[in-house]
Amino acid sequence: MSKRSKEKDLKGVIPGITRILRKFSPYIRKERLLIIGSFFALLLETGLRLLEPWPLKYVFDYILIPAHNNTANTANHFGLSPIALLTLSAISIVVITGVGSMAAYLSTYGMSLAVIRVLSEVRGNLFNHLQSLSLSFHQKSKSGDLITRVTSDIEKMRTVTVKTALPLITNVLSLLGMLVIMFFLNWELALVAMTIFPILTLLTKNMISRIRKFAKQHRDSEGVLAATTGETIGAIKVVQVLSLQEMLHGIFSQQNQKSLDEAIESLRLSAALERIVQILMAIIIAIVLWRGSHVVLHKELSPGELLVFMTYLRNAFEPMRKLSNQVGQIAKATASGERVVELLDYEPNVRDNPSAKKAHPFFGTVRFENVSFGYDTGTEILQDVSFVVQPGQQVAVVGPSGSGKSTLLSLILRLYDPEAGRILIDGQDIREYTIDSLRQQISVVLQDSVLFAASVKENIAHGRLGATEKEVEKAARLANAHDFIMKLPQGYDTILSERGGTLSGGQRQRVAIARAAIRQAPIIILDEPTTGLDNASERTVNAALAKLTEGRTTFVISHDLRAVENADIILYIEGERVLEQGTHRELMRLGSRYATLYRMQTIITKGDTYALEA
Ligand code: ADP
Repeated sequence: MSKRSKEKDLKGVIPGITRILRKFSPYIRKERLLIIGSFFALLLETGLRLLEPWPLKYVFDYILIPAHNNTANTANHFGLSPIALLTLSAISIVVITGVGSMAAYLSTYGMSLAVIRVLSEVRGNLFNHLQSLSLSFHQKSKSGDLITRVTSDIEKMRTVTVKTALPLITNVLSLLGMLVIMFFLNWELALVAMTIFPILTLLTKNMISRIRKFAKQHRDSEGVLAATTGETIGAIKVVQVLSLQEMLHGIFSQQNQKSLDEAIESLRLSAALERIVQILMAIIIAIVLWRGSHVVLHKELSPGELLVFMTYLRNAFEPMRKLSNQVGQIAKATASGERVVELLDYEPNVRDNPSAKKAHPFFGTVRFENVSFGYDTGTEILQDVSFVVQPGQQVAVVGPSGSGKSTLLSLILRLYDPEAGRILIDGQDIREYTIDSLRQQISVVLQDSVLFAASVKENIAHGRLGATEKEVEKAARLANAHDFIMKLPQGYDTILSERGGTLSGGQRQRVAIARAAIRQAPIIILDEPTTGLDNASERTVNAALAKLTEGRTTFVISHDLRAVENADIILYIEGERVLEQGTHRELMRLGSRYATLYRMQTIITKGDTYALEA
């Protein structure tokens, strides 16, 4: 009876649990010895728990009641004197509990160890997986929500498995054991006791699924809250400058209230469920006591056996009462687990082809063949783009803003894959190289370089794994950064703040150039690296860039056409296409868009350098 009822209670969460177990099975398999060992300890614990009331039965039936009826001292059918039986019973109480506790200790410890090991491995892989997911995924997801999955969802699973699921297994097993023994003692009484389970199931089914629904909503809302907080802190400067505090507070309060309502509703339902179970149990105990006494009076059951029966029923009460709560908890943890699995199941859309090989050191020929790309299907950003760049050539990518210049360069890095056409490096489709080996041979300097909250040395060394201090310094010298780094309070060991605030814009760019230089990559991508710098900084950064890019295939995006007029190839992009390509002279001779833009810039610049920048 209890089995059926529990299956129904758990029915809602079983598909989720199965999915989680299937996903985690490789990790679980590694811990199988520990799990099997702990399970045996758990079985022993359950068996001993079932034995607990039996010494009492012997004391009652063979010592106390005969003594009460003055029929004591006649040898019982064990052939033991009453005092020997009493001593034996007393000792067995201690032994049963002692060994049972030891088994419980071993099973809890063993299972906890296994669970912690499995989940920390899952967490490590989840983190790795998260890093490997494509940019398009990260741009669509909320970082707060992702953080919740890596941290609190995993933690929830850990605590619930150790503190709830394991005791639940023990409870279910001992309930089953008690049931078998109860049937054995008196099937009629056992049937009476059993009536509670279908009633309980019917009454709680609806509630359990509602608890589960609210729990899932609550977890999702918590993710949204974390995301809003993360976004606000991330953009705190903009928030304060635009005085968005009030508006954001309004949004936050609403989300907070929603999360609160869901949490309260799920708590209320859990509490109501527990009380209902409690009352039902009291009724059933009363009925069994009433009916059981009749059975004993008809000599169909000994008083000691009724005692065991009642003890079982009372003992069943606690696990039964907890059961609903435990199922609620497990439902919550299953929701967490499903969020983790959902993330693990998310396949990066840019990933290594099965046939991909590690790239050889590139010479640096880059060829676009009829490449088309759009972030969302239906809206093309680039259409039918073709060009060839020879090793060591400097390519300038110019055109109005939003025309797709950064997009074009991100395709070389395989941050996205083209929808049509192909990109070749040294004659080979870049999808045939492993992503790591491709990206390792490309250095990037962006307009607003992101530095990590680590030392200057570490930031530069991020450019290449295993870079030595000497190499860091060499790269810094190349980037014209060595001198200012030496003037920092702790030199190369100075810790930069998260947003690189300890350095000026030009200095940050030079650290970023050093980071790019240490890679010694044959291909370099510069996305407006000097925009936003003052003239003096721009000059030092440009000097550093000239050293960085010497002899390497270089792509540079620039708004300032004069800065790139010496490029070997200029690609002019507008309206999704490369409209013009050639050298500065060729494009000027062509006298079309590039030439017009160039003339406009030079005329304006003569008057006011700022007009164009603005
Ligand atoms: P440019 O570098 O020439 O200024 P971009 O390549 O940055 O242009 O952007 C080209 C177009 O693609 C713009 O319309 C921009 O809004 C859009 N875009 C850029 N990045 C994304 C993205 N991650 N998701 C969707 N659209 C994007």
